[in-house]
Amino acid sequence: MAYDVVVIGSGPGGYVCAIKAAQLGLKVAVVEKRATYGGTCLNIGCIPSKALLHASEMFAHVAHGVDQLGIEVPAPTLNLEKMMAHKDATVKANVDGVGFLFKKNKVEGFIGTGKIVSAGKVSVTAEDGSVQELETKNIIIATGSDVAGIPGVKVDIDEKVIVSSTGGIALDKVPAQMVVVGGGVIGMELGSVWARLGAKVTVIEYLDKLLGGMDADLSKQFQRLMSKQGMDIRTEAKVTAVEKTETGAKVTYEPVKGGDAVTIDADVVLVSTGRKPYTEGLGLEEAGVTLDNRGRVEIDAGFKTNVAGIYAIGDVVKGPMLAHKAEDEGVALAEILAGQHGHVNYDVIPSVVYTQPEVASVGKTEEELKAAGVAYKVGKFPFTANGRARAMLATDGFVKILADKETDQVLGGHILGFGAGDMIHEIAVLMEFSGSSEDLGRTCHAHPTLSEAVKEAAMATFFKPIHM
Ligand SMILES: Cc1cc2nc3c(=O)[nH]c(=O)nc-3n(C[C@H](O)[C@H](O)[C@H](O)COP(=O)(O)OP(=O)(O)OC[C@H]3O[C@@H](n4cnc5c(N)ncnc54)[C@H](O)[C@@H]3O)c2cc1C
Repeated sequence: MAYDVVVIGSGPGGYVCAIKAAQLGLKVAVVEKRATYGGTCLNIGCIPSKALLHASEMFAHVAHGVDQLGIEVPAPTLNLEKMMAHKDATVKANVDGVGFLFKKNKVEGFIGTGKIVSAGKVSVTAEDGSVQELETKNIIIATGSDVAGIPGVKVDIDEKVIVSSTGGIALDKVPAQMVVVGGGVIGMELGSVWARLGAKVTVIEYLDKLLGGMDADLSKQFQRLMSKQGMDIRTEAKVTAVEKTETGAKVTYEPVKGGDAVTIDADVVLVSTGRKPYTEGLGLEEAGVTLDNRGRVEIDAGFKTNVAGIYAIGDVVKGPMLAHKAEDEGVALAEILAGQHGHVNYDVIPSVVYTQPEVASVGKTEEELKAAGVAYKVGKFPFTANGRARAMLATDGFVKILADKETDQVLGGHILGFGAGDMIHEIAVLMEFSGSSEDLGRTCHAHPTLSEAVKEAAMATFFKPIHM
């Protein structure tokens, strides 16, 4: 049977693209090699990590955060098995949901490994070795990404003692000492989970700050807060070896600026040094599909590869490795294939770190504006000056808005604070409509809300805040 579209990979890029294309009247199939749909994000990424972040946050909150509110409870005890069961149930509900949506939208799902035979032909090899061939007008590569190791260091990830994020969301006991190699988003999120549950967590980061490309103001204060929460953070440290020992593992690093090597023992080492595009066994070379110098499938502005009828989206192509970026590309590509004008605004893709407090960012950082020579102005407002934040004992952090000095158009928004990941969207919508800080500062915000800090930061950008 011939399809209009065959999507290889059912992560946020692939499944969203498939559903949208079907909604637009195309005949669609999805090939997924995992036993369940939803990709990295739903099975071993965004969703399980957020289930554990929430549960561990509740645990820490009951343990340390309610006494001051006049709630006196005995110290909580941890039932890790039950916490993991909550995570697994959350994953199951989400991946089953994708299967349901496929049925509802008449998307045909095939479980098996997809391979491009040639433009217009995809083979599906099932676990029992049986092969079927699907004919299609268009092929979409949405095969996502996989764990990348530590550059220049041989690491044997066994997912028990030396773990990637996949093992890091499935430990069967709380390690006494955990070393996190890489202080990016995944390392800080999963490091937080285990620190809240009682592990002594040491984070080793090569750069001079955590969270890589985030605005430096945010990452500086974020680092202070994470240290206050008990994490031992060592920046400008280059890991040179990760080895198993009789009792666990040891990690050796050297200061980037030179100096003696340091070795730390750990029960569990989490390697969170990034992810790489996943294109193994897809038949790209035979099909003549070009990769870029970082192993990503090369595409043009319409997600087209160099081979007619073959497209690619999500983590396997350039751009931030984020689920919502993959989803938006999926929608845009489905629209293009249906003869519409889909597009993604890469200048307005929010990015969130789901620690407590959360870190959220959209648009340009101050460092990027400086480097580009853009004349800008800055407005900031701290949560210590927000009434609702005081009532909630959530005064850590601030809102920072960057706007063009001349036109006042908002170019970036950065929030460190409770609920930052939700609040960032009003700045994203404003930016999508090319709004100014004055537009935001003159928009009535309900009182008392944390979002008033966003309004006050906008007021600080074009004139002055009231409550500071
Ligand atoms: C621990 C963790 C936490 C994360 N948290 C967040 C978060 O909070 N927010 C966020 O935005 N992003 C988060 N991410 C990133 C997010 O998961 C990815 O950006 C997103 O999943 C990319 O979607 P995708 O569709 O491109 O690929 P994927 O989700 O990786 O899906 C690709 C799918 O293709 C399948 N596949 C590969 N090759 C074949 C083949 N040959 N045949 C058939 N199927 C194949 C794979 O099995 C996989 O299911 C997290 C990632 C991790 C690891």
